[in-house]
Amino acid sequence: MTPDARQGLLETIDAEIRGCTGCRLHETRTLAVPGEGSAETEVVFVGEGPGFNEDRQGRPFVGAAGTFLTELLGTVGWSRSDVFITNVVKCRPPGNRDPEPDEIAACAPHLRRQLSAIDPALVVTLGRHSLGAFLPGTRIGQVHGTARPAATDLLPPESTVFAMYHPAAALHQGALRRTLLDDMTAVPIALQGARERRAAAAPRGAAAAMTAGAPDPVAVATVTPGPAPLSETVPGADPESATDQLTLFA
Ligand code: URA
Repeated sequence: MTPDARQGLLETIDAEIRGCTGCRLHETRTLAVPGEGSAETEVVFVGEGPGFNEDRQGRPFVGAAGTFLTELLGTVGWSRSDVFITNVVKCRPPGNRDPEPDEIAACAPHLRRQLSAIDPALVVTLGRHSLGAFLPGTRIGQVHGTARPAATDLLPPESTVFAMYHPAAALHQGALRRTLLDDMTAVPIALQGARERRAAAAPRGAAAAMTAGAPDPVAVATVTPGPAPLSETVPGADPESATDQLTLFA
C-alpha cells in the first residue's frame, strides 16, 4: 500500500470511529478518540480507553498518563509522531471505569482495521485490558517487559506484542515508574526481534525482493534502534532479577 493510500484508509477508519454508535459508550462520550501518530510506523502503542481529557480533545493520552508516555518514548529517542497511539476502546467509559468485555468486543473491529492498515511489526500493550486483547490468559505482573508472538485475530501471528504496565499505574504506585522506564529500554530491542520474525515469515519472493534492495515500505528511519543483541540484559539492571532480564518470546 502506498503511504497516501494508507493515510487515506486511516482517515476513513477515523471518520467511522467518530460516528460509531456500536456500543453504549457513544451515549456518554464528548468525542470519540480514534488514535494518532504515523501511518507508516512499525510500532503501535495500545492503551485501555480515553479518560476525561482525551474525551474532551478527541486525542489519545493527552492527560497526566500521556505526559508520562511521551516521556517514556523520549527515553529511547522516539516522539509521539514516530509511533501510532490508540486504545482498545475509542470512547471514554463513564467515570473512567474499566471497559466492559462487550465494549471491548464491539470496538475490536475498529482496532483490527487500524492495525491492518498500519501493519506494525510490534504492538506495545499498555495496561491489563490491552494485554488481554492481544495475549489473553497472560498476567501483566508476569509478562511485562517481554515480547511474544501475537495471539489473537487482532494481528497476524508473525506480528509481535510487547507488554507494559499502563503509564497511569506509575502515577498511583511510584515504584512502577522505575519498572516502566526499565521496560521501555527493551522496546527498541523487541522491535529488532519483531522485524526479524517478520522477515523470517515473509514469503520467499518478498524476502528476495528485500534482499535485492527494494525499499521496506513500513520502515521508518526515526524508529530505528541501534544494533542490539536479541537476548540482552537491560543496561543497569540486576542480572539476577527475573523481571530485569529481557526475555524475548519467553
Ligand atoms: N489512558 C488510556 O488508556 N488511554 C488514553 O488515551 C488515556 C489514558
